[in-house]
Amino acid sequence: MIETPQSWPCTLCLKPSRDTVHASCRQHVYEDLAELPALYRQLGDALQPSRRGDQTRGGTRTAPLPCSLDALDLRARGGIQGVLTSWEDDVRDTLDWEERPFRGSIQQDVDGAAAFLQNQLAWICDSHPAAKELGDEIRQIAGQARRLITGERPARRIPVACPCGQVLRVTLDTPGVRCGGCETQYGHADVLRLPMAQRTAA
Ligand SMILES: [Zn+2]
Ligand SMILES: [Zn+2]
Repeated sequence: MIETPQSWPCTLCLKPSRDTVHASCRQHVYEDLAELPALYRQLGDALQPSRRGDQTRGGTRTAPLPCSLDALDLRARGGIQGVLTSWEDDVRDTLDWEERPFRGSIQQDVDGAAAFLQNQLAWICDSHPAAKELGDEIRQIAGQARRLITGERPARRIPVACPCGQVLRVTLDTPGVRCGGCETQYGHADVLRLPMAQRTAA
């Protein structure tokens, strides 16, 4: 008789795993956390006036405004800093540790909170009740920052139909989604297997 190893849904991606969290899933969050301080700095560079002559092409002025506003949002207190420090506060509170120290500038908050979360990531993945939300938020904000820096358009959302009739709007890189209609939780691969929703003429 072959003993099948026990498996359960990975906390982060909900796919079967022999550990609480896949090592690769934890690694992705770790890498995002490691990169966020650099992304924060690069967003500052992205806000500098462009020196490339791309504003004269075709005589039309390109309007960098919406992108710059997003970059400003991410760099403001409450942007990347807000996401990282609110999770740091949450972890400290859950562990009953002393409060987050005053670190100074927004950049110093980003650096400090990202390092703190990297150091606690193993514990978070194993024991924090909201590990998935943390992972999703870190992934989302790091992805948003990267897209602003590279000038890539935000990922297109595709409407897919849940068997219950609800239309879910997902991106190709979605980590997963919960149907608002029937509460089914879909992992990344499952959600992409759903049929495209029909465009209904309004
Ligand atoms: Zn996983
Ligand atoms: Zn559904």
